Amino acid sequence: MKEDQSRIIREQATRSATREHSVPLYLTSSFIFDSAEQGRAIFADEEEGMVYSRYANPNTAEFIDRVCAMEGAEAGLAFSSGMAAVFVSFAAFIQHGDHIVSSRAIFGSTHQLLTQLFPRWGITHTYVETADIADWEKAIQPNTKIVFLESPSNPGLELYDLEKLGQLKAKYPDVIFSIDNCFATPYLQKPLPYGFDLSVHSATKYMDGQGRVLGGVAVGKKDLIDKMMFFIRHTGPAMSPFNAWVLSRSLETLNLRMDRHCANALALAETLEQHAEVLDVKYPFLPSHPQYELAKKQMKAGGGIVTFEVEGGQERAFRFIDSLKMIKYTSNLGDTRTIATHPASTTHSKLREDERLLLGIRPGTIRLSVGLEDQNDIIEDIVQALELTK
Ligand SMILES: *Cc1c(COP(=O)(O)O)cnc(C)c1O
Repeated sequence: MKEDQSRIIREQATRSATREHSVPLYLTSSFIFDSAEQGRAIFADEEEGMVYSRYANPNTAEFIDRVCAMEGAEAGLAFSSGMAAVFVSFAAFIQHGDHIVSSRAIFGSTHQLLTQLFPRWGITHTYVETADIADWEKAIQPNTKIVFLESPSNPGLELYDLEKLGQLKAKYPDVIFSIDNCFATPYLQKPLPYGFDLSVHSATKYMDGQGRVLGGVAVGKKDLIDKMMFFIRHTGPAMSPFNAWVLSRSLETLNLRMDRHCANALALAETLEQHAEVLDVKYPFLPSHPQYELAKKQMKAGGGIVTFEVEGGQERAFRFIDSLKMIKYTSNLGDTRTIATHPASTTHSKLREDERLLLGIRPGTIRLSVGLEDQNDIIEDIVQALELTK
């Protein structure tokens, strides 16, 4: 099977003696050994085999194998949530005195990790404000262990040049380059071939894509994944077999869903750009996006998130959201259902006003996670809410 998609669908947990076609759910906390000798050999790492579902389970293993096939990764690990994956992708490698370089525009809880929790253990960070690779290099110190970023960013949809960052990695081979690839998904963007060491995801978003379960996954270089494995084996943020089973089935349709998310998002972004009540529309595949060329180079399509600003600040933004009929207000994203969010008062409310402005979040900024409903219905709901609140 030459094509990724065929492998993703066909690569599945070993068929049991029952000869099932679709993979069953392995709800078992532990696995038996055929003999005392086998138990000894597995624990001594002389023989491969499952032991306990905190370490590995057929459902989580299948999910991981599929994400590895999508990203072109050597190895991977599944986690109870996206934040568990992000946390372990730092914590497995750092110690007191180490330093992290990160893009400023990162997921809210990742920001809390860097600014509130890690300083307790003597770990410092530097935020890079721009996409200019010289600024990234300047931020690297002798004690820098990890360079981390999200691209596209949330909710400003700024991009970082993955090829240039890969070249920087080559210059600093001992620094781990890690990306939260959640917004793009492995279908739209593959950072590892550029030289990145790790690609981390909240599987809760597009991988599930239906707003049902939490999950996280990290894939990349095998030696790094092994170190993360040691960490989760002894700290416990493992993915449940049920969630892995759900997520693994979802990956079979990720490409189809993303194609539709992207087509709907682009059509909506083009409509919003023409609308008089809208001040600013951000979407990576709009020619007006300042990094349009870069987006076309490193992403297959623009993704499912569109960010725009309504005229009239927070008061208008609130009235706009309350006037939506079909679209609901929730802080999740990457769902079949279109979702509207007001970042300044929710996901990014813990930031200071000046920090929000650095991320392009103004009082009138709205983030839309564009779903899989009929394109005309999505656009109609948004346009009627804009007209009603003029
Ligand atoms: C949601 C999200 C996370 C956290 O994932 P959870 O599954 O909610 O723990 C991390 N990074 C990004 C970019 C996200 O959107």
